[in-house]
Amino acid sequence: MAPGAMSRWTTSLSEARPVSYWLDEPGRPAREPALTGPVTCDLLVVGGGYSGLWTALIAKERDPSRDVVLVEGREVGWAASGRNGGFCAASLTHGLANGLARWPGEIHTLERLGARNLDAIEETVARHSIDCDFERTGEIDVATEPYQAEELRSWYEEIAALGLADGIEFLDAHAVREQVDSPTFLAGLHDRRGVAMLNPARLAWGLKRACLALGVRVYEHTPALTLKRYGAGMAVRTPYGAVRARRVALGTNVFPSLVRRVRPYTVPVYDYALMTEPLTDAQL
Ligand SMILES: Cc1cc2nc3c(=O)[nH]c(=O)nc-3n(C[C@H](O)[C@H](O)[C@H](O)COP(=O)(O)OP(=O)(O)OC[C@H]3O[C@@H](n4cnc5c(N)ncnc54)[C@H](O)[C@@H]3O)c2cc1C
Repeated sequence: MAPGAMSRWTTSLSEARPVSYWLDEPGRPAREPALTGPVTCDLLVVGGGYSGLWTALIAKERDPSRDVVLVEGREVGWAASGRNGGFCAASLTHGLANGLARWPGEIHTLERLGARNLDAIEETVARHSIDCDFERTGEIDVATEPYQAEELRSWYEEIAALGLADGIEFLDAHAVREQVDSPTFLAGLHDRRGVAMLNPARLAWGLKRACLALGVRVYEHTPALTLKRYGAGMAVRTPYGAVRARRVALGTNVFPSLVRRVRPYTVPVYDYALMTEPLTDAQL
């Protein structure tokens, strides 16, 4: 490292704040109260990220008479769901190449289910009027070196031969520059339908609002401390209360699972989201 480099980096961070860009918003909803005292319900959902919120919402939509409670240890959306990149992709396999390499026999089913899932996400956002800037932008993989352009073309031919290129188009240098006018782009693969972009925190907050509107009881600042069998159901203890539920759904992601034997299967992965300075309309 060049002398002085460290001090330049640290100086450049003097104005930085360790907050999620998306969560740092005046439109942030008021927090729900913590659980105090005992409650009973049909379904208890633990965790207020997308997994928990969507589980509670679907459970209530399928059977409005089902009594659903959701407990969140901090505030809805504060974790990965409120601080991700905002890419909402249909792929269930983190990309077609990965899916094809690992599950070649099931890839057609996985792709079909993934497309249906993204459609269902879009429908839910519309049905509950969730204001999260959901937009089917599509996605372009670009080549910046001639060998990458060749790779993209042969990859396209391979997936087309397998019947997996529906909605995907190979773009030559001219076509890719029509989409994004950068001299560094030599070719691209354009997936028109398979990716949407959205504001992740607003999606989580909108799901919370939809849950509340359907009658889900949401308690924030309420970590579930223990999970035990209780008769035919389950009992969960929280700092100031307890929940008895016929069923419990865990949406606790990377946090230590309430089911100990599940813990060794959780592999935390880190990732970054970078923000540019605000862009003008012309730059956009
Ligand atoms: C920087 C970054 C970028 C990413 N980019 C993308 C992207 O562009 N596209 C994409 O699809 N994915 C992306 N991801 C991944 C995505 O954000 C996560 O997969 C998703 O948000 C997980 O949702 P979740 O509900 O399972 O978990 P989380 O959002 O982590 O929610 C889990 C919740 O459970 C709560 N909880 C845990 N234990 C308890 C307990 N005992 N009691 C009560 N509550 C508890 C936590 O407080 C937390 O709120 C990214 C992730 C990161 C970190």
